[in-house]
Amino acid sequence: MAQHRFQSLTEATSHKPVNFSNPHQKSSDYYGSHVFNKKAMGEYMSKEALDSVTNAIEKGEKIGLLVADQVATAMKAWSISLGASHYTHWFQPLTGSTAEKHDGFFEPSSDGFAIEKFSGGMLVQAEPDASSFPNGGIRNTFEARGYTAWDPTSPAFIFGSTLCIPTIFVAYTGEALDNKVPLLRALQSIDRAATEVAQYFDKNISKVNATLGWEQEYFLIDESLFMSRPDLVMTGRTLIGHSPAKGQQLDDHYFGSIPERVMSYMREVEFECHKMGIPVKTRHNEVAPGQFEFAPVFEEANIAVDHNSLFMDILEKVARRHLFRVLLHEKPFSAINGSGKHNNWSLSTNTGVNLLAPGKTPKRNLLFLTFFITAIKAVNDQADLIRAAIASASNDHRLGANEAPPAIISVFIGSQLSQVLDELEKLENGKLSPEKKTDLKLNVVGKIPEILLDNTDRNRTSPFAFTGNKFELRAVGSTANCAVPMTILNMIVADQLVQFKQEVDSLIATGLKKEDAIFNILREYIKSSKDIRFEGDGYSKEWEDIAAKRGLKNTPDAPRALDFYLTKKSIKLFEKTGVLSKVEIEARYDILQEEYFKNIQIESRTLGDLVKNHIVPTAIRYQSVLSENVNRLKKVLDEDVYARVSKEQIDMIVEISERVSLALSGVAQMTEARKVANKIESTRDKSIAYCDTVKPFFERIRYSVDKLELMVDNEMWPLPKYREMLYVR
Ligand code: ADP
Ligand code: MG
Repeated sequence: MAQHRFQSLTEATSHKPVNFSNPHQKSSDYYGSHVFNKKAMGEYMSKEALDSVTNAIEKGEKIGLLVADQVATAMKAWSISLGASHYTHWFQPLTGSTAEKHDGFFEPSSDGFAIEKFSGGMLVQAEPDASSFPNGGIRNTFEARGYTAWDPTSPAFIFGSTLCIPTIFVAYTGEALDNKVPLLRALQSIDRAATEVAQYFDKNISKVNATLGWEQEYFLIDESLFMSRPDLVMTGRTLIGHSPAKGQQLDDHYFGSIPERVMSYMREVEFECHKMGIPVKTRHNEVAPGQFEFAPVFEEANIAVDHNSLFMDILEKVARRHLFRVLLHEKPFSAINGSGKHNNWSLSTNTGVNLLAPGKTPKRNLLFLTFFITAIKAVNDQADLIRAAIASASNDHRLGANEAPPAIISVFIGSQLSQVLDELEKLENGKLSPEKKTDLKLNVVGKIPEILLDNTDRNRTSPFAFTGNKFELRAVGSTANCAVPMTILNMIVADQLVQFKQEVDSLIATGLKKEDAIFNILREYIKSSKDIRFEGDGYSKEWEDIAAKRGLKNTPDAPRALDFYLTKKSIKLFEKTGVLSKVEIEARYDILQEEYFKNIQIESRTLGDLVKNHIVPTAIRYQSVLSENVNRLKKVLDEDVYARVSKEQIDMIVEISERVSLALSGVAQMTEARKVANKIESTRDKSIAYCDTVKPFFERIRYSVDKLELMVDNEMWPLPKYREMLYVR
């Protein structure tokens, strides 16, 4: 590569990472050291206060202000002992990332001294100047009245020198202004609904937690290269750039050996995570060059969601220490796989049972089948909401691009379980004969092996795949806050479980035995959710056709997918489950549509600037060099020689002119389209206009620019190229 263009690169690659941990230390020596967990609480708090917090976590009981004072004093002492000087209410506003405003513990006193102060009141509630967080019109900005409130179910932690207290963010009028409130509501409803159903099988089950294990994909690039790309800086993805000669076609990156500089970065990420109790466990190269993945051990969903948000923050902060930049965007590079965030999801009981794992006995497997089939039915009936939950401008690049599941929602369960469901579907209506029931238990339900063979037969093309003991929602984008898909998934399954319970109870009321009633309803569910099941290649054109015949929706763009939030059916469900009120969901919808068009708007402006200020001037400069050369040749060469050797160069001059002209006219037309779109009042219509009339120019313009990249002198080209960004490490 042309060294002079990106001088600091050599410096960057020779960077020696800080020695962040004692090599003789094991993770277990410092794991959770920066979390205010039970162990820390036990050391710093009275038993009475500890019990009160435990009850709040386990039973949702309220914490009184006296106890809150004790907890605050303990937290302060604990965090100061670990070098913290500030505290913050850490929350997840609707921007999708996290927010924090740091306040010092330090308080000056009138006599010239100072004390460290942190009270129960400061722990429990704060009022960030929240007027500039998106609220979808719920709270007038001039009022700016929102507050954060402590969520004791997610433990406080220390990040750097700051004590971070996980909080919810609500308007004074009570509406949720964050991603956490609806998640907590959805988790509460699935706990209630799943516990009631599980009690058909085991009265000892008194609590059900949703569990989440996320897998985070990301790209790393050298910081100096990142800084030289205005598109990466402004939008998180490359808007132009020709594919390198070698992309991912050799499949040589996946699980390959991790470059040393990346490894030292990963080790520091792990160190930071483990101190904060984030159980990251696996790390590896991903499919694309420059792409990697981290995954933790699964946790209770609320904590896992917080941990993923914190994790993304850690990824970015630690990257800077290593002079890397992390790209979390779903599609940083075209023609190369993008990044997703699989959400592995299951339900776990207080008795230690994973409700989505088959067991040893027929009874245990009927419990499994009940939850398994109900979840499929929920996704069948509410596929639109799942589609809405994964919608964003950036995820549009992945869905249906043959690298991630299509924009059609379906469920994969594997051949073994398909057979079981087919058998159950054949059951007769009403009371089952004793022979039939024995046969069923022994030969169908009883035959489900504890470890499913299909565990290996993974279908990577399915958006919602069963993987032996959990479902994997594979369509979530890498930048997403897991709270959103987790809220929707748990809400729809909770509602389905409530319906299931009602339906079974009403059959029991007609005199049917409990087991017969359960079999009957499950059979109905299997029948009515057949359309959503698909075992084939989700990337194929054939699937699009089959899905269309089945009436499954294929919604390739976010603005239209978001519309599913506001259907009568969806609003009814949000209200019925109490997850979001009509006002709240309408506000969210508005925020998301606005975020969409602003995203495309920023990309469009950045692309226009790149073409006019970087690419075209460079191309013209190179074209002048060529023209001058041709002129000189004409002067010094004999006419017939000149005619023979100048043709290719003259062709290039013409081609550069043509590409430049196409790129410029594309930008001009795109700018016009933007002007028209900007005049549209309704957020939704503006979003659609950006999607349908502005975005289509991106590819057209890029095509010309990428052709120019192949022609123009490498020394002159003003931007780092794909081969540099993807391979220099
Ligand atoms: P792999 O997919 O690599 O074979 P696993 O199937 O063990 O590995 O797990 C993949 C991901 O699923 C991990 O992030 C893990 O934490 C998560 N996971 C495993 N079991 C559960 C569960 N019961 N609930 C939620 N997530 C789970
Ligand atoms: Mg996975």
